[in-house]
Amino acid sequence: MDCLFCKIVAGEIPARKLYEDEHVIAFHDVGPQAPVHFLVIPKKHIPTLNDLQEEDKALSGHILHTAQRLAREQGCEEGFRVVMNCNSLGGQTVFHIHMHVLGQRQMTWPPG
Ligand code: 5GP
Repeated sequence: MDCLFCKIVAGEIPARKLYEDEHVIAFHDVGPQAPVHFLVIPKKHIPTLNDLQEEDKALSGHILHTAQRLAREQGCEEGFRVVMNCNSLGGQTVFHIHMHVLGQRQMTWPPG
């Protein structure tokens, strides 16, 4: 499958990994938008949030808990932001769902 993040999961493209288990992998974003910016992705290929199924509920929770734990480990316990862009209109550019975790700078609202 021609999916960039599936290739990272398969080890075909290198990434600076923070964490990996049977279901998820987390790695630093190649174009960081904050001093801490990493992505948590499912190993399963799910193109967009619109494609999440009932059976993915546990996986979704696991992604969120992984993001929270890694944010703490990265020194972001005072605050951080999670972002999931859905589809082109939502700003998504890689069509394999991923949770952005950004921290160690003051966030502003609204996002662009
Ligand atoms: P999106 O715009 O889809 O929400 O986010 C995609 C993210 O993936 C972007 O922040 C982009 O910098 C990151 N990204 C794109 N290609 C690569 C890559 O090859 N390696 C890593 N580590 N991050 C990537």
